[in-house]
Amino acid sequence: MWSAALVPAPLDVLVAGAGPAGLSAAAACAAAGLRTALVAPSLRVWPATYCLWADELAAAAPSLGLDPGAVAAAYAPTVVRTAAGGERRLRRGYARLRNGALHAALLERLRSSGGEVVPGRVTGVRAEAGREVAVLSGGGERVARVVLDARGGGPGSAQQRAWGEVVAGPVGDLVPPGGALLMDWAALADPAAPPAFLYGLPLDDGTVLLEATSLAARPPVPLEHLRARLGALLADRGLRPAGEAERVAIPLDVPPRRTGTVLGAAAGLVHPATGYSVASSLRLGPRVAGALAAGQDPRPVLRAARRRTTAGLLDLGLEVLLPLDTAATDAFFAAFFTLPERSWAAYLDVGAAPTAVAAAMARTFAALPAAQRAHLLRTAARVGLGRLTRR
Ligand SMILES: Cc1cc2nc3c(=O)[nH]c(=O)nc-3n(C[C@H](O)[C@H](O)[C@H](O)COP(=O)(O)OP(=O)(O)OC[C@H]3O[C@@H](n4cnc5c(N)ncnc54)[C@H](O)[C@@H]3O)c2cc1C
Repeated sequence: MWSAALVPAPLDVLVAGAGPAGLSAAAACAAAGLRTALVAPSLRVWPATYCLWADELAAAAPSLGLDPGAVAAAYAPTVVRTAAGGERRLRRGYARLRNGALHAALLERLRSSGGEVVPGRVTGVRAEAGREVAVLSGGGERVARVVLDARGGGPGSAQQRAWGEVVAGPVGDLVPPGGALLMDWAALADPAAPPAFLYGLPLDDGTVLLEATSLAARPPVPLEHLRARLGALLADRGLRPAGEAERVAIPLDVPPRRTGTVLGAAAGLVHPATGYSVASSLRLGPRVAGALAAGQDPRPVLRAARRRTTAGLLDLGLEVLLPLDTAATDAFFAAFFTLPERSWAAYLDVGAAPTAVAAAMARTFAALPAAQRAHLLRTAARVGLGRLTRR
């Protein structure tokens, strides 16, 4: 016979998925006093190198009880190099998350606030009597006021791809000392190959991560191609890989999952040009928790984080970038980073107001040389026509 003690008490929140979106939401919900369970197949520390802007981390950290200095390495200056515009040193600081420290801090916040961790997968969710029932892979079910779906996004047709190697260094002038190389379009320039840039970050142990990155391509650029281009650069500089390679594949055009309450990549919160979503996830977790703790529906908070018009503009921006060749892509970023910081920063934020994103697009267009403007217009017209004929 079932004893009442064996039936798990109903939850306020069940979070499916322990990526950056799920773990930060679960930690925030538990810390807000909500009865929270996190269902995840594994609690492995995220293996990817996750970066964000330092101000984004500083803004998100307090609500998650995080010390930015402990959970991330900060870089200054942030450098962009293009053949068309030379080297530009951005004032905006960049940061690399120390995944081990961040993961442990969020897990500790979840557990010390009474949150539960349930190993397994959520295989389905159904509504029942004003509650949500999560079906678990082991056959069990858990009832919650709300199930937050943070199970990640789909594969997409356009992707950012990168091949990274850790090198012992010194790397000479490739990466600024203490700084981050956000993009160097000149270092890997090859007019006959797909556009790719060099990305570089000093790591905590004195080594340097260098990545050959294809910002966006449909179909995605094969990783082996990027590996070969990075390999040629390393050989040219007398550098040798000294650790695990990093393989990056980020879907850029995955629509948000339309059912349920979704977070992170599952919610289409990946920026279509940069592939970034971690800053948005750290920012959103506590906001969703705040709404739930106040007895409100969290979906308006999530809708505000991904405004349809902003998403539409950024998607159009991606479609315009995709067909650009190496010279046009280089010219585009040379122009983009001449904008005032608040303007380009707005374009890089999925949560920005559509007017700010449209203004950044218009300003970039105005900053391009005439030939590139004509090229961009022709591309935009082709893309627009293609979109119309696809409908
Ligand atoms: C190598 C790499 C580098 C990247 N670098 C950056 C970066 O620098 N900055 C940035 O902002 N973004 C970066 N991204 C992109 C993006 O931000 C990440 O993909 C991020 O992990 C998305 O977070 P998420 O929590 O939404 O989803 P995910 O990290 O994909 O997490 C989803 C989780 O759900 C779990 N799951 C799946 N199915 C189920 C289920 N049925 N039940 C329960 N759990 C389930 C998965 O195991 C996974 O742990 C990078 C991506 C990659 C691959």
